[in-house]
Formats: sequence, structure tokens, C-alpha cells
Amino acid sequence: MLAGRTTTEELLAHLVAFDTTSRNSNLALIGFVRDYLEAYGVASVIVPSEDGRKASLFATIGPAEIGGVCLSGHSDVVPVDGQPWSTDPFELTPREDRLYGRGSCDMKGFVATCLALVPQMTAANLSTPIHLLVSYDEEIGCTGVVPAVRRLGVDLPLPRACIVGEPTSMRVVDAHKSGIAYLTTVTGREAHSSMPQLGANAIFAAAELVGELDRYRAELIEAGDASGRFDPPNTTVQVTVIDGGTAGNIVPRQCGIRWNVRGLPDFDEPTLLARFERFAQGVVLPKLRASAPEASIVTDFIYRVPPLRPQTGSEAELLALRLAGQNRTYTVSYGTEGGHFQAQGIPTVICGPGSIDQAHKPDEFIEVAQLRACERFLTGLVAECAK
Ligand SMILES: [Zn+2]
Repeated sequence: MLAGRTTTEELLAHLVAFDTTSRNSNLALIGFVRDYLEAYGVASVIVPSEDGRKASLFATIGPAEIGGVCLSGHSDVVPVDGQPWSTDPFELTPREDRLYGRGSCDMKGFVATCLALVPQMTAANLSTPIHLLVSYDEEIGCTGVVPAVRRLGVDLPLPRACIVGEPTSMRVVDAHKSGIAYLTTVTGREAHSSMPQLGANAIFAAAELVGELDRYRAELIEAGDASGRFDPPNTTVQVTVIDGGTAGNIVPRQCGIRWNVRGLPDFDEPTLLARFERFAQGVVLPKLRASAPEASIVTDFIYRVPPLRPQTGSEAELLALRLAGQNRTYTVSYGTEGGHFQAQGIPTVICGPGSIDQAHKPDEFIEVAQLRACERFLTGLVAECAK
């Protein structure tokens, strides 16, 4: 175990060395964090995933019975497969004023900084608690944090503000879009392609559905963004994967379409889905059923990341602006776990070290200066919570 005070850089090196690519278990990293906290007398609550291969960790420093501020970060990282790295992605490598490694920026840098401040937190005799939450499966739809968040205000304390430390270059972000991914599966009937009247062509049907989605795409560009805060300034619809057919002489029985919607915070997503369903079931399906009564069109959720809605003047916003020494908030286009906290009734902002420009890329890095800025931010938080 680590002895004495450990620097942010040392902690980051430890965290980066765990290959917590989302497909892997994160239990070794969670065990490391639990042991580290225990060395400072801080107990952890482990919230395992359904299959027990992964877990979130929740810990409170200070009096547990009152609100407090939650600092939240995910432990998983995106794959390095096929990326041309010039360093070992799982060995933190300093070069000039940067630290290279997978997750250095997104977002083990924030988690390491929080951990490095734990000795200050425990020594400060906090009157307002600081909660730490380390999650998993953020990079595959922000799903891993949900079981832990659902317990806040139930059998775990309900924070009165949450700061999710995704890389924002320490800017305070108060809004982002939702991200909803769907899989639509069209099932028709096979036939020899010389006798198409005996089958039901799933790809033709899927193409009609793609055309409908393209109409939504164009309409949403037209509708724009009344807030004027987002780039691009509209809700977007994209078809990302089409998978159908088996051979050049077979009328295809099945075709899958993956598509996603990234909605402005006030976007009415159920209405869009209902409209798509009406078109699928009312216009496209009857054509398939004319020759194949067993035909179907089924749309499933792959994941849903709720939006972060701006809450001007919320405790989280005011606190983060004060600690960051800033006077305005920003929006981002990527999704985060923030919306899940907000849905649990916890005012939430996004603010963390490093730039999203470096995330998910080969040679991901974080600037040392960003870690220092995050340390100052958290040192200010400790001072506020000690008042
Ligand atoms: Zn992230």
C-alpha cells in the first residue's frame, strides 16, 4: 500500500496502469481506491454490477447525515485497439508538461486529483461532507453509475450538489444534449431473388425507415436551437450502422438499423419515437405483411443518456463558478453521467481537468497545469466545506 502523502501524478500513474477498458473488469482499480481511502480511515460502499464483474465505489468524508458535495468520475476508458500510440497507453509517461496515457484526460486525471486531496479532506474536520463516486461503463452509454445514483437519498446520503469531473479544461458546463441509441430490426421473409413476390424484402423496408429518419434530420436542422448555446445548433439524428441480407440471390429476411438522436435538453424524444413507430407499423409493415404475415419491425433501446438541463443559479453552478474563479457557464455536445444525478434531484455541473480534444485518441494526454488547476479547485472546495 502507498505510504505517506501521494501526489496526483503518482496516483494517476497507478490508475492508468489498470487496463479498465470498458469490456474489462474494473474491480482491481476499485480495490486500489478502497484500500487507499481505508488508509485515511475512510470507509467505502461498493455497488457491484449485476454480474459482479464491475463495481462503483461511494465514500463520504465528513458528516454523512447532511447533504454535501459529490465528486464523480468514471473508471473505465475507451479501447486502444488499432490506435497508433507512441507510448505504452497503460504506463503514464511524462513528456515536457504533459502526461500521456489512456484515461489520463478522460477521466482518471480527475479521479487521481480527488484522491490526492483526501488527506486534506480528512484533516480539515469538514462540516459539510464531500462524497466521492467512482463508476464504470460510462463509455458504453453512461449506464454503470445508475445503480449507485439510485441509492443516493435512499440508503446513501443525498448530495446537495454534484460535480462530474469530465474533461472541460476546468470550465463549468451546465448543459449537454441527450444521447439515445436505437436498434430497429426489420424481419421479412426469404425467397429466391427471381421470385420476389414469394418473399418480403427487409432491406427495402429498412430503406424506407432510413428515409423517414432523414426527414426528421432535416426538420430538426430547420427547427434549430432557441437557446443559441449548442454546436451544432439543433437536435441531430444519425443512422450509424446497417446490417442486412445474406447473399446476392436471396431476398433478404432481416435488416438491422442502428440510429441515434442527440437531443437538445428540452427535446421531446418520446414524440419523435412515437412518430417513427407510427410510420414503421402503419406505413412500412403492412407492405411486408402483404406477402409475409409473420413480418415485424421492432425498435429497441441500446442506451439512453439523459440530457443535462441548465439550472441557472443552482448550488452546483454557483459553487463550481466560485471555485473555478469564473463567471459564465458553457455547454458541450457529448453526453455525461450528469443527467442521471440531475434526474435523482441533485443539482449537477460538469467541470474537470484536461481537454475533450485529447479524449479517446491515441497519445491521450493531460497537461500538468490542468491537474494543478483541479487541485486548486478542490482545495477551495475543502476550505468551503470546512467552514
Ligand atoms: Zn469520460
